[in-house]
Amino acid sequence: MFSRILVANRGEIALRIIRAAKTLGIEVVCVYSKADADGPWLKHADQAVCIGEGPSAESYLRSDRIISAAEVTGSDAIHPGYGFLAENANFAEICRDSGFAFIGPSPEAMALLGDKVSCKNLARQAGTPIFPGTEDAIEEMDEAVEMAQLIGYPVIVKAAAGGGGRGMRIARNEEQLRAGVVSAQQEAAAAFGDGRVYVEKFLENARHFEIQCIGDSHGNAVHLFERDCTTQRRHQKLIEEAPAPGVDPERRNEVAHSAAELIRQAKYSGAATVEFLMDRDHNFFMLEVNTRVQVEHPVSELITGVDIVAEQIKVASGAPLSITQEQLAVNGHAIECRINAEDPDRGFMPQAGLIETWRPPGGLGVRLDSHATSGYRIPPNYDSMIGKLIVHGPDRETAIARMKVALDEFEVGPIRTTIPLHRRLMDHPDFVSANFDIHYVERWLDSDSVTAAEA
Ligand code: ADP
Repeated sequence: MFSRILVANRGEIALRIIRAAKTLGIEVVCVYSKADADGPWLKHADQAVCIGEGPSAESYLRSDRIISAAEVTGSDAIHPGYGFLAENANFAEICRDSGFAFIGPSPEAMALLGDKVSCKNLARQAGTPIFPGTEDAIEEMDEAVEMAQLIGYPVIVKAAAGGGGRGMRIARNEEQLRAGVVSAQQEAAAAFGDGRVYVEKFLENARHFEIQCIGDSHGNAVHLFERDCTTQRRHQKLIEEAPAPGVDPERRNEVAHSAAELIRQAKYSGAATVEFLMDRDHNFFMLEVNTRVQVEHPVSELITGVDIVAEQIKVASGAPLSITQEQLAVNGHAIECRINAEDPDRGFMPQAGLIETWRPPGGLGVRLDSHATSGYRIPPNYDSMIGKLIVHGPDRETAIARMKVALDEFEVGPIRTTIPLHRRLMDHPDFVSANFDIHYVERWLDSDSVTAAEA
């Protein structure tokens, strides 16, 4: 096992990794930017090393400085968290070549699953359900047109190297498709240096469904069941829960098994999430694989009892998975609300500045993963998420009731947060009935007279 790991991240996920490492008796080094010099999580690290200025490009994205910090502190391994360099295969390779274990998959497995075309081809072999569409990147416009005729419009053109929603075009007819292929190719070539695009069926009014998987370097892979992340705004997840309400457990198990099989066939070591869209008839179509720990991992931890971050560290050190599929079962229901320092009444404008009041909730089944405290000044440089409130209960109804109480207790000021929005969502009939799709929050906010009047 490692004796010292370096955390190449900040905020709540840095704190989450510190907690897991300390539980395993491992020392932790944090790197930080000048904007994070007062970051409350740094107090809990054994050592902290400043690696540059506030902008990420000058600190958290500087692999050379991160590697230097690992060298001078005598670290054995590097945990990238999520975001920043977490899904950068080149960084994973630099870590390995510099003699540090990367707490995540090999650069080869990351590249294989990170490329949407090779990932889809592997999924086809593993029996993971995928969208109908072209098998490979299209070479001639005719291939795209013929495929669209076969599967029917609407279709979506997607970049093989895609990420962050770039290089995607929805087409509802042949004219839009021809234009979309050309512009998606150009955008992908400019953004990723790789203009390959493919065409697949576009699914409207879907739910977002994902399977948490973990693999080890001994050829084992398990799944920790699913999460439903349908409550989103502009493709940003707001609420995640497990298990997915209303989904038949047998069908869920089939999809989850196929996702674990995909991870196993990719020779994948570490935590991964296989994302799907689910239609009204509960058919599943794979979107992509995220090759890192996810923001919403705590809901899976609460229903399975597995410490996903500790498991990541253990498998990266070469240990086999400490759990088998047979030992895993779904216990109760968990819900997570992302607490963002944003003003929902002003177009979700990010709120930097001093937190004067911070009174977190507590009680049975309530977990708060946050680096924030009263007196903490939120820097303007990074993501607006300042914490995650997660509740667990024997069933969904109890979890919702606990979340309402916890949100009511939670006081943060004077900066505005998404807490009041979450409190209203807990009473939203579409959330309560789980009769929803990934655009329901946007439709609701657009039609909401209170929000509109104040905006
Ligand atoms: P990226 O890696 O750029 O984020 P994804 O493949 O994850 O791209 O897609 C981003 C979002 O676009 C998805 O969350 C989903 O809402 C939408 N999307 C992608 N593919 C499809 C599809 N075939 N049908 C419907 N929506 C899609």
